[in-house]
Order: sequence, then C-alpha cells, then structure tokens
Amino acid sequence: MHTDAAKHAFIAFGSNQGERIDCLKKALKALSDHPDLSLVDVSAIYETAPVGMTDQPSFLNMVAVFHSKLTAEALLNVTQSIEQDGGRERKERWGPRTIDLDILRHGTDTVDTAHLQIPHPRMMERAFVLVPLLDVAHHDPALCEDTLHEALKGCADRADVKRISDGLPDVDA
Ligand code: ATP
Ligand code: CA
Ligand code: CA
Repeated sequence: MHTDAAKHAFIAFGSNQGERIDCLKKALKALSDHPDLSLVDVSAIYETAPVGMTDQPSFLNMVAVFHSKLTAEALLNVTQSIEQDGGRERKERWGPRTIDLDILRHGTDTVDTAHLQIPHPRMMERAFVLVPLLDVAHHDPALCEDTLHEALKGCADRADVKRISDGLPDVDA
C-alpha cells in the first residue's frame, strides 16, 4: 500500500553478527531498491558496545533517510522481510542479530499499536541511535537538533559510540 505524498523515513540499522558491514550494505540496498522508497542520505558508521545484553559482540550502527511513499505499517512489513532475508533469527530481544531495522520516524506520523510505535519509543535514550541520527537530522526540519543533543547528554552509553567510517562505500546517496 502506498500514498502519494512522500515522507522522510528515518531508519536505524544495527548489526553485530556475520560480516557486519555487508549486512548493513545488503539491507540498505534492499530498502533503496524498493519502488516506494528512495534513498536521501546515510550517516557515518559507528561501532558501539552492546547495551542491555552486554555479553555479545559490538554493533555497527547507522541511520539512513529515505523518501517514503509507503504507509508506516507497510514500511514495517518491508523492514521485517529484509531482516528475515538478512538471516536474522528472532531469539531474544536485544540479543545478537545480523540486521536490526528500527523505524525511528516516518514524516510526522504517530503510531501506537501493539506491533508498531512511531516515533520509536526508545530512540531518545540511545546514543547509538542519536549520534548517527544527528548526521542526517537536517533533512527533516521537524527534527530539532538541539533536542537531540540535549537527549544525548543524558545517555550513559555515549562514550561507547565510535565513528569508524564516513559512510558505506559504493552507495549513491
Ligand atoms: P528495541 O525495539 O528496543 O530496539 P529490538 O529492536 O531488539 O528492541 P525487535 O525484536 O527487533 O526488538 O522487535 C520487536 C518488535 O518491535 C517487532 O516485532 C515490531 O513489531 C516492534 N516495533 C514496534 N515499533 C517499531 C518500530 N518503530 N520499528 C521497528 N519495529 C517496531
Ligand atoms: Ca532495535
Ligand atoms: Ca527492531
């Protein structure tokens, strides 16, 4: 299902299993290839220590922005099928995964159902989301960078987020 007015979709990527860079690349390509999504920009890539379940490999994280003509629900279906194709096994929450795709924002949509909440309810507590999001926040005037910086100051994990690359190689943004 799609609508005509394109919205800015901000999607957080995380990978801590397999060839992590390749997992990010594959998911980015799959999203970019969707007929109702077009890639606008990607953040740098960050390596972050795991939070929640700390006994697992470190993550690579980034945030990508798309123009989306999908509904929020349809976008969740797309991200979940890409997670499946990326070999993600759904075991425990916050556990290791080849690819995790979280929808942070979708235009000004607010959704609060059992299986979808937008904006993502935990995004403002996580440095591994806020730091890459700040790289691309300027694409949406409704996303206040001062608010993001302020939220980041309160994140205990902010020292654990390390920029490792300026972006994915071979990606046309
Ligand atoms: P967290 O949501 O705290 O980052 P997680 O990413 O490890 O945890 P998952 O196991 O990937 O959690 O997802 C659990 C469920 O979250 C999914 O089945 C999906 O229905 C739901 N969900 C709710 N809101 C969103 C959203 N904005 N983006 C992606 N999934 C969402
Ligand atoms: Ca997540
Ligand atoms: Ca998720």
